Amino acid sequence: MRTDSDQPINIVGAGLAGALLGVTLMRHGCGAIRLWDRRPDPRRTRMERGRSINLALAARGIRALEHAGMMEKVRPLLIPMRGRMIHDRSGATSLQPYGQRDEEVIYSVGRGELNKMLIEEAARHQDVTIRFNQTCLAADPTQNVLRFRNEVSGAQYSVELTPTIATDGAGSAVRSSLAATNFLSVREDWLDHDYKELSIPPVDGRPAMDPNALHIWPRGGFMLIALPNTDLSFTATLFLARRGPRSFAALSDSQSVLEFFLEEFPDAVPLIPNLTAEFQAHPAGQLGTVHAAPWRVGGQLLLLGDAAHAIVPFHGQGMSAAFEDCVVLDSMLDRADDWQSLFAEFERLRRPNAEAIAQMALENYTEMRDTVLDPGFVRRKSLALELERRFPNRFIPRYAMVMFHPQIPYAEALRRGGVQSQILLELDRPDGNTDFALAGKLVNERLTPLVPA
Ligand SMILES: Cc1cc2nc3c(=O)[nH]c(=O)nc-3n(C[C@H](O)[C@H](O)[C@H](O)COP(=O)(O)OP(=O)(O)OC[C@H]3O[C@@H](n4cnc5c(N)ncnc54)[C@H](O)[C@@H]3O)c2cc1C
Repeated sequence: MRTDSDQPINIVGAGLAGALLGVTLMRHGCGAIRLWDRRPDPRRTRMERGRSINLALAARGIRALEHAGMMEKVRPLLIPMRGRMIHDRSGATSLQPYGQRDEEVIYSVGRGELNKMLIEEAARHQDVTIRFNQTCLAADPTQNVLRFRNEVSGAQYSVELTPTIATDGAGSAVRSSLAATNFLSVREDWLDHDYKELSIPPVDGRPAMDPNALHIWPRGGFMLIALPNTDLSFTATLFLARRGPRSFAALSDSQSVLEFFLEEFPDAVPLIPNLTAEFQAHPAGQLGTVHAAPWRVGGQLLLLGDAAHAIVPFHGQGMSAAFEDCVVLDSMLDRADDWQSLFAEFERLRRPNAEAIAQMALENYTEMRDTVLDPGFVRRKSLALELERRFPNRFIPRYAMVMFHPQIPYAEALRRGGVQSQILLELDRPDGNTDFALAGKLVNERLTPLVPA
């Protein structure tokens, strides 16, 4: 599939997915590509703070960056995290490793730096034009146009729609405009929990905590987490109910914020020197799952990344899922006869996987804020690792399938994970003694061998 300069491919949104898609399609030799973004050029301006400053990157995202030839450039931005460092109320910490092999780590990466690097790479190519400060207002398939507003001049204008890939994120204006004109239907399931980011600066030129872990203060109904940054700081994120006795609404002044933190996260308080000021100044962000159907309008337009399937961030997979979309679309390009069949086949392949990771991400919230503290959970988690050691080609814990085994589609990880959790329940004994003969029988009967990576 190629386009010519008279009819470039439009990519609306030069965020993580849009910029990587630009690089991927450019390397494929697709012809002219035009990227649009409402923001100013991030190569010339500072990233806005207070919005998911760093992200967890895992194998699926890495595979997509490798596919786009970007991994070596991105590597210096990455900080390995080998497990969850759990902080209890007394300040005691314990590490729950993510996997059992040295390479089973996830990485913290700065959103702004990663996005800038992808944009720089896309911009290097003469076939790619990037237009910043251009807000897409709507897609109109009937008139075959995309409508924009230039944020500098205020002027509104239209460009030819076909073909367009909309990567304008969770709040996609393209998606909303298509829903408003009945080209697709959308359901946005908002969580009743919001998030707020806070900073943990270095202390005497050193990270304030172990930088090779994702820190979690799980407190049942809510949690604080912190991911390391390359400048030796951490970005902490509080996930908390919007309303109720323990909620953002209840933390309306500095006094209540400080008291809440001293009670719930006493060891974190000295690490966040500007706690109350940042708490007042930083916005609270909303979290939700987007269900849109279909993701496409004929061969004119396709939604991709968060615009199609935004998820809650608790599996650290939204970016990786969006990046995986780019690889899947790219791998189908040479086989497709036209845009319409390409977009239809993309949706057929990706939808079950998007739905599966959306479900697993929601389930992981309960796990992170609550069940990590449950002795039964900890026991079954360690039994799962033991079963993986004994039956490595059949039993891989669900978390590891999602994070470290990109060859296993999300939908298959969800399905196998359900079978495995039943096996774990049948084997679990409070005294920790496991009948491994029974384990072998159940694993062999219920789990087919996995295809090696
Ligand atoms: C708090 C939080 C933590 C997260 N943590 C993780 C994590 O640890 N790991 C992970 O993998 N994922 C994480 N995610 C999810 C991840 O941020 C998204 O899945 C990812 O950014 C999706 O990429 P995208 O390109 O589809 O959307 P975005 O990155 O949101 O990019 C959208 C782009 O479109 C532009 N745009 C928006 N509207 C318009 C418009 N009308 N016209 C033109 N341009 C427009 C925006 O300026 C932006 O550049 C997290 C999300 C949140 C909210």
